[in-house]
Amino acid sequence: TTYLHSTDTIVALATAAGKGAISVIRLSGPQAISICNAIFSGKNLLEQPSHTIHFGTIRDGARVVDEVLVSLFVAPHSYTTENVVEISCHGSDYIVQEIIKLILQKGARLAQAGEFTKRAFLNGKFDLTQAEAVADLIAADSSKAHEVAIKQMRGGFSVEIKALRAQLIHFASLIELELDFGEEDVEFADRAALENLVHHLQNLIRNLLQSFTLGNVLKNGVATVIVGKPNAGKSTLLNVLLNEEKAIVSDTPGTTRDFIEDEISIEGILFRFIDTAGLRETQDKVEAMGVERSRQKIEEAALVIYLFDVNELTPADLATELAALNVPDKPLLAVANKVDLAADLEVAAYQAIAPVLFIAAADKIGITELKQHLLRAVNQGDLTTGANTIVTNLRHYASLEQTYQALDAVLQGLANGTTGDFLASDIRRALYALGEITGDITTDDLLENIFSKFCIGK
Ligand code: GDP
Ligand code: ZN
Repeated sequence: TTYLHSTDTIVALATAAGKGAISVIRLSGPQAISICNAIFSGKNLLEQPSHTIHFGTIRDGARVVDEVLVSLFVAPHSYTTENVVEISCHGSDYIVQEIIKLILQKGARLAQAGEFTKRAFLNGKFDLTQAEAVADLIAADSSKAHEVAIKQMRGGFSVEIKALRAQLIHFASLIELELDFGEEDVEFADRAALENLVHHLQNLIRNLLQSFTLGNVLKNGVATVIVGKPNAGKSTLLNVLLNEEKAIVSDTPGTTRDFIEDEISIEGILFRFIDTAGLRETQDKVEAMGVERSRQKIEEAALVIYLFDVNELTPADLATELAALNVPDKPLLAVANKVDLAADLEVAAYQAIAPVLFIAAADKIGITELKQHLLRAVNQGDLTTGANTIVTNLRHYASLEQTYQALDAVLQGLANGTTGDFLASDIRRALYALGEITGDITTDDLLENIFSKFCIGK
């Protein structure tokens, strides 16, 4: 491995901007410690061992800017494998600006988005999937999303991909061996065994590809919409659901309180309610918004709840309504509300139409069951993330798909008795696509694309 240690030193605020008790400013690079030492009054930082913390002041000439704690990480024992210094100062935007200004004057430059993590990757600290998991971990706001991200960050996903790649490389080496002999009638690699191996690899990849539906749900939540006639109880139901579960608070700037309130976590799975602000209005405007509007919301959703007042809709009406809704491509949950008002509930007649769930939203009857149905609708109830590997990243998904297609070409080649050089080229294509996932193969564009999505300071 060649280590591409940077020659310059970067600086950024690592904590969120705005008022907090403390802020952390992070430096990384060969001059990190000497630059900090030049503005720090206290012990000589250049003489201190790694993984130590020092109290002192940051000074601009004679003026004391702040009292701070400085944490030292001496290369290679740091996040980036470079010299890293973290200055914990008081959480004031003014102080942070002043300290960063001083650091820039001493020769550091401002870090780009994700540059600390990018350096860690380039310096071989971890692979690309692990770097990406860092961003996922920061963004994770449900227990399952967190679970998948932390597993990936600790290398769980890479292990799987590298195992796949190792098998392919073994395959490739047999073919290349034939090529080295340059005679077409020499076949070291037993074609039937090769075909078995490709089928085996495709099976593994298919499982990974299929896990993406779930992975996406875990990472981004399940977009859910409640539709139904005015007065069916949509607002009531939503309020009951939201109040039962403590809303997950995300610190992402720009997310409004409304938005945050529209998310609930059920057994660690995040459900995001689409356009619920409209649904929650006391004077119902759903009808005014028209069918078109609810159609659009249904398009955006991954899961649709059709709520109806059981006292207003006969089983025959329900059949008509569901047919009119026409959502063949996603789970649709038919829910009968206001069972408390029903004198004589024709459960069987409704269930002959659809697997209807009966609730009384206002009385919180049937809510626990409804939540179980929501979970089941997402993935037939199988949301365990324990043993199997789950793809949560669209980039990984695309690369796996390319690998799969290249393997298809290999299979076709084997079936047609194609010569070794053509097989080898398809295998190399598969290897390339797999290598892009972990970062064994990278391009500047790929890295730029990944790390520009990080926040500054990570
Ligand atoms: P929306 O138009 O679909 O949003 O319906 P709302 O949630 O605004 O509810 C319409 C009316 O039905 C309100 O007066 C609610 O209090 C009432 N309501 C909602 N759920 C129930 C229920 O389970 N039982 C009874 N009796 N009334 C309910
Ligand atoms: Zn409403």
